[in-house]
Amino acid sequence: MDQGGRGVEQPSEVDVVIVGAGFAGLYMLHRCRQRGLTARVVEAGDDVGGTWYWNRYPGARCDVESLEYSYGFDDALQQEWEWTERYAGQPEILRYLQHVAERFDLRRDITFGARVTAAVLDEATGTWTVSLDPGGAVTASFVVMATGCLSSANVPDLPGAASFTGPTYHTGRWPHEGVDFTGQRVGVIGTGSSAVQSIPLIAEQAAHLTVFQRTPTYTVPAWNGPLDPAEQAAVKADYAGLRAANRAMFSAFGGRIPRRDQAARDATEEELDAEYERRWALGGLPFLAAFNDLLLDPVANETARRFVIGKLREIVHDPTVADRLTPDHVIGCKRLCVDSGYWATFNRPNVTLVDLRETPIETLTPTGIRTTAADHDLDAIVYATGFDAMTGALSRIDVRGRGGQPLGEAWAAGPRTYLGLMTHGFPNLFLVTGPGSPSVLANMIEAIQQHVEWIDRCLGDLAADGLQQIDADADAQDAWVDHVNGVAGATLFPTCSSWYLGANVPGKTRVFMPLAGFPPYVEVCEQVVADGYRGFRRR
Ligand code: FAD
Ligand code: NAP
Repeated sequence: MDQGGRGVEQPSEVDVVIVGAGFAGLYMLHRCRQRGLTARVVEAGDDVGGTWYWNRYPGARCDVESLEYSYGFDDALQQEWEWTERYAGQPEILRYLQHVAERFDLRRDITFGARVTAAVLDEATGTWTVSLDPGGAVTASFVVMATGCLSSANVPDLPGAASFTGPTYHTGRWPHEGVDFTGQRVGVIGTGSSAVQSIPLIAEQAAHLTVFQRTPTYTVPAWNGPLDPAEQAAVKADYAGLRAANRAMFSAFGGRIPRRDQAARDATEEELDAEYERRWALGGLPFLAAFNDLLLDPVANETARRFVIGKLREIVHDPTVADRLTPDHVIGCKRLCVDSGYWATFNRPNVTLVDLRETPIETLTPTGIRTTAADHDLDAIVYATGFDAMTGALSRIDVRGRGGQPLGEAWAAGPRTYLGLMTHGFPNLFLVTGPGSPSVLANMIEAIQQHVEWIDRCLGDLAADGLQQIDADADAQDAWVDHVNGVAGATLFPTCSSWYLGANVPGKTRVFMPLAGFPPYVEVCEQVVADGYRGFRRR
């Protein structure tokens, strides 16, 4: 029965239910179709796009270059699509994903405006029943959770929040019609990537902007601009070459500006300065690939930190404001931001920085935000407070596996997976870019493609071997969780309170969730298959 469009009236049966219609869900659907499987995507939003459907705040754009932050699975697609900027803005990325949906005729198998509320395994039949809000259910042999690592908005429960009488916005749930801040006094809470992108533009429009900062952030310039047609043509002349180079990079991007194979600890002051200046001038995230020990050795990291803080102090005129903007944690420990005029915005006369470490928020009031030092009168508040990352979207679904065990219970002490792809006791339920895989530490489009292609092959191999079910082995999972923790422990990532650790959400278990290092991870995934799905139980 056809149930395309908004809402679902009747239950249906398919081979694969895919939850989410972002980069991951769209590609998964395409691969399922190519394999001859019936599939249905269920998406809470009213259209495709995922991240790029929801995050419509001013300045939203990718910070991995568009030529690299795009699908590589279809050469005709990557040849025909023309990116206009080095880092495309949200509208352009959304148009790209809409184009993909149309090009591969994907929408007819997507149910929009429906939220998956539960996924329950029937052990007798080996099938999953997926329940939807506003109603209905779909049963399937396989479920693929393409629910996104950064799709569940984190809105802090601030005292008095409901009393504020003006409009409030979260960057990840931005109104489709846009927001006009002209003439308004606006408060932005947060200084992560979303804030860093939106603050310069809100400051230009608003009468006054007050930024409420809990932790200062590091940022490097994007130097965004129109994409040189000659550069685009050169990439397209050997697109496969760039994709392959990226897959060989530690974070699956930046193949054209690879990591320097030298330790900062061994470099002279002149070498350090020259390389950091070169990378600052190039712009973007490859700054952190200036030396090969920046996220391993605190002494090395300090050299990069000092350089960036030097830039901050050149840009920001008022030394007191510069002091407040100066982070003291390891650079790269929280995700590095990429900006277009962020620090310079604090030189504007209509911008105030409030340091919440000095003067915490006491309460929201009907007219603004009261800190321990002052009342800040505001017409509108923007929560740039991020996401319940990596596990948030899944934890909002009542997933029950063998013996009726809730996923939340299996993950009570932090997420446990094998390869970030499956969790023991939840057979035939796959995660795309799940915890325990490179996911958010990589160019996510490469990470997504690798997972979708692995899952697709796994489904094909099951069928070819006359089998119906696959589950992660408990021992293999335990060993994998230890491995992920071991890798994290060898880096500087666990040294600060980042969302990688779940530290931004009060009460969330603190476990470092992603796995650093794309190429070694892919190698393990391939070896597991070559060894007959080692660590999985197939029957
Ligand atoms: P998403 O795009 O998050 O899609 C998941 C979808 O699942 C959503 O549409 C959601 O509505 C749906 N969903 C979730 N739960 C349910 C449910 N229960 N029922 C129904 N539907 C559900 N990564 C990079 O590598 N480079 C970048 O430059 C970059 N820039 C980013 C900029 C922003 C502003 C943000 C927020 C993230 C950025 N990311 C970036 C990360 C980005 O999330 C990924 O690159 C990618 O878009 C994720 O695709 P996805 O399909 O896995 O998940
Ligand atoms: P984020 O990085 O988690 O930043 C959230 C900000 O809000 C932090 O400064 C945080 O402070 C602050 N905050 C959270 N709760 C608070 C509270 N109760 N009181 C005061 N401040 C609070 O979220 P994000 O900026 O949305 O970015 C999330 C991720 O999405 C990024 O790291 C990146 O992976 C991706 N992203 C990428 C881009 C891009 O440039 N392409 C843009 C946006 C997002 P603390 O640091 O103290 O927790």
